[in-house]
Amino acid sequence: MADPNAKPKYTKLFINNEFVDSVSGKTFATFNPATSKEIVQVSEGDKADIDLAVKAAKKAFHRDSEWRKLSPLQRTNLMNKLCALMDRDKAFLASLETQDNGKPYAEALFDVTYSILTLQYYAGWTDKFFGDTIPAGGFVSMTRKEPVGVVGQIIPWNYPLLMLAWKWGPALAVGCTIIMKPAEQTPLTALHMAALAKEAGFPAGVINVVNGFGPTAGAAISSHPDIAKVAFTGSVDIGRIVMQAAATSNLKRVSLELGGKSPVVVFDDADIDFAAETTHEALFSNHGQSCCAGSRTYVHEKIYDEFVAKAAAKAKARKVGNPFEQNVQQGPQIDDDMLTKVLGYIESGKKEGAKLQAGGKRIGNVGFFVEPTVFSDVKDDMRIAQEEIFGPVQSIFKFSSLEEMIDRANNVQYGLAAGVITNDINKALKFANNVDAGSVWINCYDAVLPSTPFGGYKHSGIGRELGKDGLDNYLETKTITMKLL
Ligand code: ADP
Repeated sequence: MADPNAKPKYTKLFINNEFVDSVSGKTFATFNPATSKEIVQVSEGDKADIDLAVKAAKKAFHRDSEWRKLSPLQRTNLMNKLCALMDRDKAFLASLETQDNGKPYAEALFDVTYSILTLQYYAGWTDKFFGDTIPAGGFVSMTRKEPVGVVGQIIPWNYPLLMLAWKWGPALAVGCTIIMKPAEQTPLTALHMAALAKEAGFPAGVINVVNGFGPTAGAAISSHPDIAKVAFTGSVDIGRIVMQAAATSNLKRVSLELGGKSPVVVFDDADIDFAAETTHEALFSNHGQSCCAGSRTYVHEKIYDEFVAKAAAKAKARKVGNPFEQNVQQGPQIDDDMLTKVLGYIESGKKEGAKLQAGGKRIGNVGFFVEPTVFSDVKDDMRIAQEEIFGPVQSIFKFSSLEEMIDRANNVQYGLAAGVITNDINKALKFANNVDAGSVWINCYDAVLPSTPFGGYKHSGIGRELGKDGLDNYLETKTITMKLL
């Protein structure tokens, strides 16, 4: 049952299978964005705490450790046990997520389910990452895929539990040990997951969760000499900082899942209602706070006006409010900074000449609610067309031909995702083959499955998460060659 008053049970740092105070003794508040009220104080980790977590994770990764000696099937069983505990605590996890992040409870529940599916998917990979045997004349040569070692994982606030599952799944499947830093805005579900990992029976040091801020705890991860790999999801600017720190410290392996400005293209043969619905959800789901949000809606000129009217009507009908209330589709933005940023982009859209068709304002003055907003007549050089807004603002552009469309779709720094809505298979595949995007969805959007790789071209990132490709982030290849005597 949804519980708006669910009390977090864990607020400290989770290091070596124990909840501990931070070395400094400092704490910080996590807030409910629907009410702007503090939920609870959590321990604030910094470099000294990351050092302790790395020490524990290194020990857990030692060749003689309990964790390293587990068979793949035993790792599978541990991961599945964790999933069973998540299922047991589903309503509690979703209630914590909705309090901490502001997403509607039904969506938080969906995130829990999808997180379980992701971990179950990876639980099946523990004995399936094979090397090769290589033809080599008078030698016998083979490759072994080995876990990279102690890994740092830094995640954002928009899908706190899901991002955790995307990162824990492949790392645990291949046998790495983990230091995770949740976003400072949303530490609560990660802390509960740490307790579940202990209950499931993961040995001490395999999973560590250190709450804290980016420039302190986060930077201590990306620059740590004994962390072999850092996986980061967040903004482009911070992605660069993480990569630099990785390079100058110990050349740790880096995977980055960054921002996007993803186009969704609607051709004139499409069913307009279906297209309006698909593009609406592509942008507004999770309040627009999604790296792969379909934030550039391109509509063929023949159906443009009719489409804009439908899109505006949908935005006006979207129910915004208390995320614990049934049927609410949109809760608050995550914090005051994001609220200000989103309202700033709405102002810039108006100033640069886009036509406001729906929304445009803050709702009330408690919490960080924004009206679902639609702009039409958006031009490619406007700020709202080029920059990631990360809020409920749909920008609708007009186009006339497929060739023109491909060039315009690619004319941004990002390349995370793209969508195309048409019944013409040739148009769909020509667009899909030529657009700069790590994922292309035809006649759907956001169809991200645990088995399908996800990640970005260009400034949207490096590496792929999910699917078989997601394992590569956590593996080294060792070549072993033996001469036949
Ligand atoms: P967002 O805009 O989604 O908040 P950020 O890139 O600011 O994205 O934050 C994503 C994650 O990166 C958070 O966990 C945050 O604490 C962390 N972070 C922020 N600054 C740094 C940094 N200098 N080094 C490492 N991690 C950081």
